[in-house]
Formats: sequence, C-alpha cells, structure tokens
Amino acid sequence: MGSSQALALWVVITHLLSLGGGFVSCAKPSFWPSSATHDEAGCLSWRVQVSAYVDQIAAAADGLDAWIFDIDDTCLSNLLYYQAKRFGAYDPMAFKKWASQGACPGIPPVLELFAALQDKGFKAFLVSGRDEETLGSGTSQNLESEGFSGYERLMMRTPEYRGQSSSVFKSAMRKQLVDEGYRIRGNVGDQWSDLQGDNVGDRVFKIPNPMYFVP
Ligand SMILES: [Mg+2]
Repeated sequence: MGSSQALALWVVITHLLSLGGGFVSCAKPSFWPSSATHDEAGCLSWRVQVSAYVDQIAAAADGLDAWIFDIDDTCLSNLLYYQAKRFGAYDPMAFKKWASQGACPGIPPVLELFAALQDKGFKAFLVSGRDEETLGSGTSQNLESEGFSGYERLMMRTPEYRGQSSSVFKSAMRKQLVDEGYRIRGNVGDQWSDLQGDNVGDRVFKIPNPMYFVP
C-alpha cells in the first residue's frame, strides 16, 4: 500500500474516532461534525461521555486535580506502523525503531480533550509503558510536535519496571501521584490495562483500538 493510500486510511480512522460530539474550546478539523445532534448525544461514543463529564467538573484552585493520558494510540497514533507490518505480530525492535523516529501523528479528538482540560485548570500526566531510557527524548519531541504541550509530567517506564505488566507499572505511577496529593479525576487510554488496577481515577474512558491488546 502506497503512502497516499496510507494517508487516506489514516484520515478515515481519525474520522471514525471523531464521531459523536466534541469540545468547544478548539477548532475542529474540517471532517468533524459541525455540532452535536440529538442522535449523537444518545450514542455511547467515548467522546460523548467524556465531553459530558468534563462539562460537569471543575478543577480546584490548589492545582491538584489531575487527568491521566496514555500515549500510544491514545495521544499518538501508531496506525501507519501497524499498517506497514500488515497488522501482524508485534515486533519490538521494529516498533522501537518506529517510535524513536518521533513521527507518530497526534489523534485530533484526544488533543482537543487534552487542551480543554488544561484550559479548565486540570493537570495532565502522560503515563506510557515506553522505555524512558531509549525512547524518552523521541517521545517528548513527538508529543511537542503534535501539539501535546504544557503537560505536568511525562512518566515513562524506568529500568525498575522493565518486564512488568502495563497494569502493574501504570498502577505504580498513579499511586505515586496520589501519594503526592493529586486527585485523579479522569483517565483515558486505548487499553484496559491503562484503566484497571489501583487508583484508576474517578472516571475512565476507553478509546477503541482494533489493532492489538496489551495485558
Ligand atoms: Mg496505548
């Protein structure tokens, strides 16, 4: 499949992810619905649910209201990598090479959520199972280039957590934040292992991922 076809597929996928309501604080890409309709409000899209929740909550003045964001296929898309691998078995070396290039496209509806929450005074924490030592620099640059800036902290897998499940690692990161006094008001990820375990937050929002499963 050529690069133009890959781009077309990416546009289709991001369009599907965007269906069902939006956030009013950011300009929407041209392919988004212009406004939420009655029918959209009745569907079960994660975006409808998270938008309604965000409208209801406020951040306290103490700066301790936090949201957790996963990175891979939540903030940044790996669709082009998996497409090139024909959606086959996970290849850790090839994925590391892809991720180190810092060329993952940002996912528009998640960026809008990210910006809307920061506008409301919430602190965004990016928690990723990516290896900090080898992918820390490329990941932070990739986030910045795709508009994910102003976050409170990027928390990646350090050597002591290598070999542990995503659920165990992410639970430990969330516990660290809670121990620091943060209140986790929401948690967004494409894997259930992002959203299960300890201190998951007041509400969790599962983004669809038809490509793979991480325990
Ligand atoms: Mg992920």
